[in-house]
Amino acid sequence: MADCLFCSIIEGKIPAQKVYEDDNCIAFRDIKPQAPTHILIVPRKHIPTLNDLVPDDAALVGRLFLAAKQIAASEGVAEAGYRTVFNCNAAAGQAVFHLHLHLLGGRNLGWPPG
Ligand code: AMP
Ligand code: ZN
Repeated sequence: MADCLFCSIIEGKIPAQKVYEDDNCIAFRDIKPQAPTHILIVPRKHIPTLNDLVPDDAALVGRLFLAAKQIAASEGVAEAGYRTVFNCNAAAGQAVFHLHLHLLGGRNLGWPPG
């Protein structure tokens, strides 16, 4: 989609530190990490927010979590623990309107989140 930052990264028009990719998604390091490990797992399909998911996306969302599991292991945070987060819309602080799963780890994460 035109004017979408994450579509531009997927198309290789904007560089990113890629750590994983498959037919359904890519994952890259967050440019402003909030934890020692902070990776964004992004479906290749442009879906603006969680509110825009349709039943046909169910398998895709499952694959994002399978990618998260694999990346957590390769980043060495799987055993200690990590968090996955979708921010949806303004109250959650969503800034990029292309669905992305945050994977945060490498430090103790407070609860509840701010
Ligand atoms: P959200 O607030 O859930 O929409 O998260 C958007 C995330 O994208 C933030 O954590 C940003 O730091 C991150 N971000 C913004 N631009 C880039 C970029 N060019 N490369 C990697 N991460 C980015
Ligand atoms: Zn997009």
